Amino acid sequence: MFRPRDEYAEPFRIKMVEMIKMTDRPTRERLIREAGYNVFFLPSEAVYIDLLTDSGTSAMSDYQWAGMMQGDEAYAGSRNYFNLKETVKDIMGYEYVVPTHQGRGAEHVLMNTLVKPGDRVLGNMHFDTTEGHILLRGAEPVNCLAEAGYRVSEESDFKGNFDLDKLEAEIKKCPGKVPFILITVTCNNNGGQPVSMANIRAVREIADRYGIRVFFDAARFAENCYFIKQLEPGYESKTIEEIAREMFSYGDGCTMSAKKDALVNIGGFLAFRREEDFRKAVQWQIPFEGFITYGGLAGRDLEAMARGLREVLNLDYLEDRIGQVRYLGDLLVKAGIPIVRPVGGHGVYVDAREFFPHIPRDQFPAQTLVVELYIEGGIRGVELGGCAFGRKDPVTGEDIWPELELLRLAIPRRVYTDRHMNLVARALARVKERASSVRGLKLTYQAPVLRHFTARFERV
Ligand SMILES: *Cc1c(COP(=O)(O)O)cnc(C)c1O
Repeated sequence: MFRPRDEYAEPFRIKMVEMIKMTDRPTRERLIREAGYNVFFLPSEAVYIDLLTDSGTSAMSDYQWAGMMQGDEAYAGSRNYFNLKETVKDIMGYEYVVPTHQGRGAEHVLMNTLVKPGDRVLGNMHFDTTEGHILLRGAEPVNCLAEAGYRVSEESDFKGNFDLDKLEAEIKKCPGKVPFILITVTCNNNGGQPVSMANIRAVREIADRYGIRVFFDAARFAENCYFIKQLEPGYESKTIEEIAREMFSYGDGCTMSAKKDALVNIGGFLAFRREEDFRKAVQWQIPFEGFITYGGLAGRDLEAMARGLREVLNLDYLEDRIGQVRYLGDLLVKAGIPIVRPVGGHGVYVDAREFFPHIPRDQFPAQTLVVELYIEGGIRGVELGGCAFGRKDPVTGEDIWPELELLRLAIPRRVYTDRHMNLVARALARVKERASSVRGLKLTYQAPVLRHFTARFERV
């Protein structure tokens, strides 16, 4: 199981620092009002601890920065590409690698390569941009997450697992319409919950019975491997490399947002086991992302990505990273703050409906909590609830609310210390003390799609 946090320290020394500044409360109240109570419109310099996302926010190592200096900025045949290709082959076992500007670029190329209108792409739970790209192909995204994955406070391991019966039933429903199954590790949309090796193996067996390919959305593959090592019987003495090799052996390729587990600020790639898939993919990659050996990136970005992919497998790093996320989760539980359990790999999710039971759904409890946390401590989280996932019924005009109403605190990799986490917990505890007097928000502007990015609110 997990080692207590006070038995080890950060497995790095800090070589360079970026100063951050706490603003005063009247300034924060003014800024958030001017931002229409939407933290996407805050200048990041007015944020003290930024937990908006773990994407592209990692601190790179000295080894990665040294690699940046060795960028070979060639249009074709950059040595950094060959290093990346070899790294992916070593870790994942996939021969064919196509870099892309970030994860969604890889999704775009994959969907155009393999998905036809009318197809159905099955997954445990597709990420938002993945779902978007499937829909853009005129196909249907289908989630086959096991029930436990939807239950906020159920303390069970591997809540990113597939419901295997549902998966098979969905395949049988429309024979010939499933181009591939996509396994998202860890499962981002329900809190960074891991998928077990047994479940992945079983998905592969089902796929083989029907002659269907299996791909990974590998954004947080190393974090998933760490959970397997800690929680799954039979894996405790295997290395992260061995676990990753086995996991990817059940797939035909992967998409990767390198902004997560490749520890870089920009980048992604698509990888395949089969040459025929690669050949088809290149037809889409060249017009949209650039040539095969750079994919919308500079040589230096490819090098940082290759080096980050090896670094992320380090067990001390993973223990510290996942340990810090759990550390924050434990502090919040101690302060009586309702969170999604168990704590996943990349963030802590607070249940805003329980936090503000007096605020109705149409006054956006989770968005209200995001705003109050910023005012209280200069801390920026993000809403994953009624604003991000709610919509109006096109016929009746009634609001349709998602099941969950959450504040997400995503933890950047190698960026903040536990003392920052202490402040986050204290600020939330202070909001909790005055929770019953907090008023909700009224939505005053919304765009037709992805409304949370540009929404504007007023105080009720
Ligand atoms: C971030 C993410 C993506 C998209 O990657 P970008 O680099 O943001 O384009 C896809 N899938 C998952 C699971 C992600 O977390």
